[in-house]
Amino acid sequence: MTELCDLTGTELAAKLRAGEITAVELAESSLRRLDAVDERLNAFLTPTPQVALERAGELDAYLSTGAPQSAVAGIPLALKDVLTTNGIRTTAGSKMLETYVPPYDCTAWTRLSGAGSVLIGKTNCDEFAMGSSNENSAYGPVHNPWDLDAVPGGSSGGSAAAVAAGEVVWSLGTDTGGSVRQPAALCGVVGLKPTYGLISRYGLIAFASSLDTVGTFTRSTRDAATLLSVLAGKDHRDATSLDTPVRDYTEAIDAGVAGMRVGVVGFGEGVQPEVAASVRAAVERLAVLGADVGEVTLPHTDYALSAYYLIAPSEASSNLARYDGVRFGYRAEGGTDVEDMMSRTRGAGFGPEVKRRIMLGTYSLSAGYYDAYYGQAQKVRTLIIRDYEAAFAGYDVLVSPTSPTTAFKIGERSGDPMAMYLSDVFTIPANLAGVPAISIPSGFDSAGLPIGLQFTAPVLGESTLFRAAHALETDLDLDLRPPLLAGV
Ligand code: GLN
Repeated sequence: MTELCDLTGTELAAKLRAGEITAVELAESSLRRLDAVDERLNAFLTPTPQVALERAGELDAYLSTGAPQSAVAGIPLALKDVLTTNGIRTTAGSKMLETYVPPYDCTAWTRLSGAGSVLIGKTNCDEFAMGSSNENSAYGPVHNPWDLDAVPGGSSGGSAAAVAAGEVVWSLGTDTGGSVRQPAALCGVVGLKPTYGLISRYGLIAFASSLDTVGTFTRSTRDAATLLSVLAGKDHRDATSLDTPVRDYTEAIDAGVAGMRVGVVGFGEGVQPEVAASVRAAVERLAVLGADVGEVTLPHTDYALSAYYLIAPSEASSNLARYDGVRFGYRAEGGTDVEDMMSRTRGAGFGPEVKRRIMLGTYSLSAGYYDAYYGQAQKVRTLIIRDYEAAFAGYDVLVSPTSPTTAFKIGERSGDPMAMYLSDVFTIPANLAGVPAISIPSGFDSAGLPIGLQFTAPVLGESTLFRAAHALETDLDLDLRPPLLAGV
């Protein structure tokens, strides 16, 4: 049965405004769904039912005064557990921060909270956002609502699964190399990674600071535009946040794709044939809708994965130096001196993938190797930025698959880091270039698992991104209710 929590944020905001439903009813609907399914999904690390109901109650009292209402007010939301929340445990999916309760809110949540958003809880994720399957969480894997034996993607897998299963209406994740778009694709929801710097990183527990981006999971493109309108904008607490005017990103969303120049990024082997076919079919629909479709190549993106796996671990090795048993969270007992305590703490507090990245990053930054690895990777990054600039001289948006495959089985790639890293081959280039990209569902494979298609736009081209994604989504009109909900 469809419940309130299955509707989009846009639909629910209208119902709240019309007085047809209350924020408390809506929060209860969301919490009921969480109770019904989360034991099977493990999408939440810390549900916050009291916080949610209290906030919803306050909001109902406020709304009954007829006061103006933000489009996000009263809508149930979840936050990936790398986004700090004042007084609410924030683990980053790591044993290292198992008991960490931040004394401050991240800016993304400050803005949503200020607009009346209702927090349902903090979601499971790969440890320090490192991974593509959510199997690197210290708190167990998340299961995909479309197939409980399959991964939801990562690293923001809990946030993606929670939206797909209706535990929340929308959620936030973070995307350093694809961690919003790839899980969105694997879970059949919309995943937005905005331009680097458009949403403040203040309070985002750092993985790779020059790539980290806050992003959104929603059940429609319009909802993504609604959330971004609240989240975007300069923050004096984040020096890399962009000074862009506050705007309503839903404004031009219905303008369609007639005359829009759409470049299809060449993709070759390694893509599941059903994914390739779905993307091709969607491109044909865009042409029917009036888009001017052509082919484009981004020649240096062949090296994007290699460059990313030097740059991201290098930054991570520096960012994660702070977890030493002194400043934050976990400390191993029984050390003989301070160095021994630190090495025991880091040995027991971090999982294997995090350690792998720290070692890789430390190595590539070390004297004698810096020029050969890290320096070289930065040069490749510049070439990729130029590839995009050249492509956007001829096209308004680019289209590609989001992920080379649909959801894979839990355990299938966990023993093979290279196979896992390849999951992000289509998403990583946008992070290296800082450009915005969105993944929307484009169809299903023969097992009934959702397929994701990615649109990419130039820096600050979010409006174009939304226009294209919304036009295609409306045309495809897919039924995105996962089988898990049949018996709920
Ligand atoms: N899967 C990629 C990685 O493991 C991307 C992660 C992310 O975007 N946070 O690094």
